[in-house]
Amino acid sequence: MSVRTRVAPSPTGDPHVGTAYIALFSLCMARKLGGQFVLRIEDTDRARSSERSERAIMDSLRWLGIDWDEGPDKGGPHGPYRQSERRELYVEHAGRLVTEGHAFRCFCSAERLSQLRAQQLEAKGKVGYDGHCLALAPAEAEARAAAGEPHVIRMRVPEAGQCAIDDQLRGKVEIAWDQVDMQVLLKADGMPTYHLAVVVDDHLMGITDVFRGEEWITSTPKHLLLYQYFGWEPPRYFHLPLLRNPDKSKLSKRKNPTSITFYERMGFMPEALLNYLGMMGWSMPDGEEKFSLDQMIEHFEPARVSLGGPVFDMEKLSWLNGRWIREELDPEGFARRMQTWALNASYLMPIIPLIQQRVERFSDVVGLTGHFLTGLPSLSEASFAHKKHSPEDIKKTLQFVVWRLDAHDDWRAEPLKQTLTGLAEGMGIGVRDMLFPVFVSISGQPVSTPMYETLEILGPDLSRARLRHGLAALGGVSKKQAKRLEKQYRELQT
Ligand code: GLU
Repeated sequence: MSVRTRVAPSPTGDPHVGTAYIALFSLCMARKLGGQFVLRIEDTDRARSSERSERAIMDSLRWLGIDWDEGPDKGGPHGPYRQSERRELYVEHAGRLVTEGHAFRCFCSAERLSQLRAQQLEAKGKVGYDGHCLALAPAEAEARAAAGEPHVIRMRVPEAGQCAIDDQLRGKVEIAWDQVDMQVLLKADGMPTYHLAVVVDDHLMGITDVFRGEEWITSTPKHLLLYQYFGWEPPRYFHLPLLRNPDKSKLSKRKNPTSITFYERMGFMPEALLNYLGMMGWSMPDGEEKFSLDQMIEHFEPARVSLGGPVFDMEKLSWLNGRWIREELDPEGFARRMQTWALNASYLMPIIPLIQQRVERFSDVVGLTGHFLTGLPSLSEASFAHKKHSPEDIKKTLQFVVWRLDAHDDWRAEPLKQTLTGLAEGMGIGVRDMLFPVFVSISGQPVSTPMYETLEILGPDLSRARLRHGLAALGGVSKKQAKRLEKQYRELQT
């Protein structure tokens, strides 16, 4: 049977470098062995999934040069490739598990479950479903379901013993069954959970080799059990080490820009970013750090995957990018890349209305728009000097803005304006005062192009990175300060 791999992102935010990392390894495996690589969109969380995010993920993967053989945009023999379009399949399979006694209907109310959880937490015991509805006679459960009573479907789990996972990178990993919850498979609204959907889809799509992040290892017993219940052969699992922040915590946007679009906007070459992601878990036989996708495919072997927690370090990525720029681009290539990066109409058009009224000569343009073409401005505490406000006040304002924008999704000018003016009101300060440290962090100067539009053009990741960079220039916020500020932030009215 030919090798089939997949990447299965959930379209719930910005296109994450972790998605590209998993996609890269899955792609290399499929290409090396002459198999196929599939893109599946896991959008069963209807509240959090968006078409915008799905599009951004696909665009970013394409920008990186990652191409799939089957997917929502391309179709293929195992479609549809979007989980929201495969609902009946999950309902049917969950029903089959109930009929065969591997799963059961659970009518417990949300109140009962939250009380149960609170009791379990208090008793410092195991937290999880207690099997209350297992006691229902199947005929009664069917009758209640037929009468329309809301319920979920949960899987049965062995009470004792160990589940042995044969991880292709780590060897045998054992997890005790009493650590595994009676997982909900189908929610009350008829939508599957990830666990049911991933198993049904990987099987029906003929996936033979699953590369995914190591955070999924603890879920693997549930998946293996489902394969056993269905009587299917499970795929081989490769749990890749998680990408980490320099402080070794899991890579998160709070500490490090994680969105592929950030790296695109910062002017990294896609080849270099892909190369760097490859380096995170893999090395060339000759130890050469700079390699292309084709070279990685040619030499790809899962045995060369290393398990140490790889640190995603922007300095190292910049060094590698520099090598790509110096060694791989001739002057024409360099010029072309600059155009694709930012010196093109589609990037410049939204900037023109922000500056045209202020320009007397075209030579004024560079001074007015430099911040659209740079990475992080060079800042010091002096950059934030203000007639009225102390550096401490400025820092507090900037920290509040960072928190407010961390929680804000819609990165268009108008919603940004609403959320930030709301913040200023809540803080009891003028909008202008609130925006002062934002202007400095974003543009390096207290005055610049209109801020909400500027943020929209720069995008969430570069904007957030600059605001954090501004905070750091102000000396950063210590843990103790952060605690105090968090309290004040929570007490804000809006
Ligand atoms: N949708 C899951 C994610 O976003 C995929 C996990 C898997 O590959 O099984 O990470």
